[in-house]
Parts: sequence; structure tokens; C-alpha cells
Amino acid sequence: MATINKQKIVDSVPQKGFFGNPKGLFTLFFTEFWERFSYYGMRAILVYYMYYEVSKGGLGLEETTALALVSIYGSLVYMSGIIGGWLADRIFGTSKAVLYGGILIMLGHIVLAVPGNLSMFFVSMVLIVLGTGLLKPNVSSIVGEIYVENDERRDSGFSIFYMGINMGAFLSPLIVGSVMNYSFHLGFGIAAIGMLIGLIVFVATKKKNLGLAGTFPANPLSQNEKKKVFTKLGIAALIIAAIIGITASAGILTIETFINLVGILGIVIPTLYFIFMYRSPKTTSVERSRLLAYIPLFIAAVMFWAIQEQGATILANYADKRTQLNFAGIEINPAWFQSLNPLFIITLAPVFAWLWIKLGKRQPTIPQKFSIGLLFAGLSFLVILLPVYFGGSDALVNPLWLVLSYFLVVLGELCLSPVGLSATTKLAPAAFSAQTMSLWFLASAAAQALNAQIVRFYTPQTEMAYFGVIGVASIVLGLALMALSPRIQGYMKGIR
Ligand code: GLU
Ligand code: ASP
Repeated sequence: MATINKQKIVDSVPQKGFFGNPKGLFTLFFTEFWERFSYYGMRAILVYYMYYEVSKGGLGLEETTALALVSIYGSLVYMSGIIGGWLADRIFGTSKAVLYGGILIMLGHIVLAVPGNLSMFFVSMVLIVLGTGLLKPNVSSIVGEIYVENDERRDSGFSIFYMGINMGAFLSPLIVGSVMNYSFHLGFGIAAIGMLIGLIVFVATKKKNLGLAGTFPANPLSQNEKKKVFTKLGIAALIIAAIIGITASAGILTIETFINLVGILGIVIPTLYFIFMYRSPKTTSVERSRLLAYIPLFIAAVMFWAIQEQGATILANYADKRTQLNFAGIEINPAWFQSLNPLFIITLAPVFAWLWIKLGKRQPTIPQKFSIGLLFAGLSFLVILLPVYFGGSDALVNPLWLVLSYFLVVLGELCLSPVGLSATTKLAPAAFSAQTMSLWFLASAAAQALNAQIVRFYTPQTEMAYFGVIGVASIVLGLALMALSPRIQGYMKGIR
């Protein structure tokens, strides 16, 4: 985007009006608040919907299949960010991407709100995957667009935005979870209404608050390119449709092969992305060194999100099956556990922000923070072993152990997640800067693709080994990263 455009865009956004930040942040905050409200509300009950018996309103799938499918879903939701980022960059700009994405997401939840079968579930999955790919990375990119290059409020803007994400994620499992026993479809309906409110906020306030932000594609396709690209896309779509048609009718395309396919894509896509950036003539030698430094960080992020995201699959299952839900006189709804992560994030994020400021130059470096993130993630799995170790695997577990586990992973998340996004924007080559948001989300995509593969090792008999091996693996990786930190820092060429 030309510099002149950048300045014009910032000038068109009222620069005050939301906690000392540009007014546009109000629009982005509430759009993302409601989008995450709908996503995390749906996700809080999804796994139960899939494996609960039909008589209880569920789809009656096998538990392992349900857990794997939720991971695949989570993986695709972040993988599709590449498509969303590309469409915004080259065709219609980020603002339209958010609008179209929101509409698709809402339709996806509406499809789930109507009682239906497994096919309806897949239709809704496609809508929500594509919709989130359009909305999620692009709404975050617009946050970056409403500030001038060196505006010091930018970091605070992203922190406020991050609060919005977690406030939405906190509220919805409580509401959607509470209606789950009455009707799953009502729960999905509430998610759809959440997205509708987000869309209304976006459409009603974007002109006034966001001005020109997000209205230009950063690197639009020329007429000539358009023709070529559309022909290629058309051919690719036909080939994919043919493959799906043939394999499905021949009975080869089963849920199992689908899960394996996404597992492979989860690893192959980021690998190709790295090779492509590394070899591009547009990447300078300093940037190449930074890319090398980014690889161990990316691997660490994959390990971290693999554990964090199991909070909505394996731990959700654990909450339902292995936890004492009648506790201290209250009947706990298992979906409510999903509100713990965002609750801890909201309360602790200001503490961490204060801590980093207080430590100033003495604060851990970026690789060290990632390493601390992994140590806490590992611990969050290891603590689950304690009640089983003391009480045996037959007794139901005190829910406070699960609360402790969610708490520990959040300590790690606060060392890794906000740092990771800004590190990505700093370490990615300038020529690829527009796509860095999607690059960061590919770590979550890879993590969940991996999760879909490993859930099959989780059975009531292997529970101890499962949490133990993954917990220890994360700690070992964290220690290795800690040892390598000074070298990685060197490769980062001055980025802190
Ligand atoms: N939980 C955060 C969100 O929904 C972070 C997601 C991620 O990076 O995986 O925005
Ligand atoms: N902490 C996650 C994120 O930042 C939310 C969640 O897992 O519920 O949005």
C-alpha cells in the first residue's frame, strides 16, 4: 500500500474516543468480542453435542472421533486464515472480508441451530471455517491499520483488543453451556445471535469510526493477473470437487482419511510457507536470519497450542467424565470450565503487562518467554496426574485440580501468546508482512491437526501415560529452548 494511502487512512479514523485509543478500536473490539462469543460458545458445547447419545440430543458419535473432529475443526478454522488473508490483500480489502466472514459464520451457527444430522454439521463446519478465515486475521489486521507507523498506543490497542477476545470467550460458555442440557440447538442459536450482534455493530459504526481503514486491498490483483488467477482457481476447485466426488462415492473419503489429510496439511502448509519466504528474492539476508530464528519459536508455539487447545477437547471430556460435578452444593455444568481460561487471561493480563514494564530491560527475551510458556503448559498436564496418583483412577476427581490446570496453562499463554503475535510481525520479511497474522495462526492450525492424530491414544486406561508423556515433552522442549535462547536471540539480529 502506498505511504500516501496509509497516512490518508489514519487521518480518516477519529484518533480519540476509546480508552485513549482511536475510535475505530471500539468497532473492532466489539466485532471481535461477539465473533469470539459465538465461536467459543459453540466450541464449549460442540464436543458434547457430537458424542452425547441421540436420546440426549447429541449426534451419538464415538468419543475418539468426536474429539478428533473438534481438533480438525479448530485446525481448519485457523488454516483458512491464509485464504482470508489472501482474499483481503488481493481482492476486496480487510473490511469487506470481515463483513463477509461474519455473515458466513452466522449462517454456520444457524445451520447448527436447526436440528439435523451429521451432514448438516459438515455444512455448518464449512461455513464457519471459511467465515472465520475471512474474519479473524483481518479484523486483527485492521487494528494495526488505525495507527500511524510509530504510534506508541499500538501495543496498548492490541492489549485492549485481546481483552475483547477473552471477554467474549469468557461469557459465552456460561450462557451457551447452561442451555446445553435443555437443547444443544438453542445453544448454537445463541451463538448465531452473538454473531448477528457483532455484524450489526460492525456495519453500523464502521463508516464513522474506521473511515477508510480496511477499504483498500493492500496489493490488488491487476486485470491481467485476475484472469490468470481465476482460471487457476477454477481449475483447482474443479479438481478438488472431482477428487471429493470420486473418493466419497468409492467410500475412500471417510472421516478417518479426512482427519489424516488435515494432519498432513497442518505440517506441510507452514513448512512450504517458510521455504517460500526463505527462498524469495524479496527476502533480504538479515530477514533470512530472522526467519531461521522464527522456526524454533514456531515449533514451540505448536507444542504450546497443542496443550492449550486440548482444554476444549480432552479436558472438556475429562470435565464431563472424570470430574466430580456435584461440588460444594452446586451442580457444575462441564461446559463452564471453558470460561476459566479467558477468565484467568482477563484477570492476569494486566499483571503480566505490569511485570514486563517493571522488569524493563531485565525481562526475559522473546525465546525465553516462549520457553517459560512451554514449562507452564507442561505443568498444566502434569498436575492432572496428581489426583489420580493419590486417589486412583476410579474415583471422580475434585474439580479444583482442573481449575489449577487451566490456571497454569494461562500463565504460559500470557508469556507466549501476546509476545508471539508481535514477534511474528517483527521477524517476518517485509514483503510478507500482510500475511504474518495468518502465519502466526498456522501454529494453532498445526497444533490442532496434530491433536487430531494423538487423541486416539487417550483412553481411560492410558490417561496417566497420556498426560505424563505430553507434559514431559513440553517441559523438555521448553528447557531445550531455554538453553538455545541466546543463539536464537543472535539470529534475530537486533529484534527484542
Ligand atoms: N485464543 C486466542 C484467540 O482466539 C488466540 C488464538 C491463537 O493464537 O490460537 O484469539
Ligand atoms: N485464551 C484464548 C484466547 O486468547 C481464549 C480461550 O481459549 O477460551 O482467545
